[in-house]
Amino acid sequence: MKMLAIYPGSFDPPTLGHLDVIERATHLFDRLIIAVGVNSAKRPLLTTDQRIEALRLSTAHFPNVEVASFSGLLVEYARSVGAKSIVRGLRATADFEYEFQMAMINRRLASDVDSVFLMTRWDYSYLSSSMVREVAVLGGDYSTLVPEPVVPIVAAALEARDHIPAMETSQHG
Ligand code: ADP
Repeated sequence: MKMLAIYPGSFDPPTLGHLDVIERATHLFDRLIIAVGVNSAKRPLLTTDQRIEALRLSTAHFPNVEVASFSGLLVEYARSVGAKSIVRGLRATADFEYEFQMAMINRRLASDVDSVFLMTRWDYSYLSSSMVREVAVLGGDYSTLVPEPVVPIVAAALEARDHIPAMETSQHG
């Protein structure tokens, strides 16, 4: 039987930490779907399409990886694609509380879908999308924190973001 897993997340933007989890998951499962969560409550730096593009380009060398987006309940999405496993990454203890709660709720909603946790690699234990966004917005070099194809996509998103207030300012004199 083929083992299919999904790796859900915001991926705003994808980082080398995400890529490491993806690579390790490809050894554990026959197929992996990276599922970009569309959450209207969050205001992301990258659009859903940019995040999908960034992940597709960064994982093109893995034949058993696909990228998709989902909205609504994660376990419903897992069921709809026939996945029995949800892959998540764990960094420091700060991740544990949230991931523990999510895993418990998801199991209550769907007892046939299990969560699988991969411990971060030491080199990426400090790395998060929010850190990358912070460095990028403040003009720092984020190119060593994300997969290479992600760099121009983040740069484009930053530029688009910078243009909006500038236009508003010029309209109001
Ligand atoms: P979410 O908003 O769902 O937490 P993220 O894109 O921030 O989405 O993270 C997706 C998953 O990847 C989470 O399980 C997170 O803990 C994990 N993750 C993020 N960064 C790293 C990292 N550097 N090492 C290991 N796992 C990570």
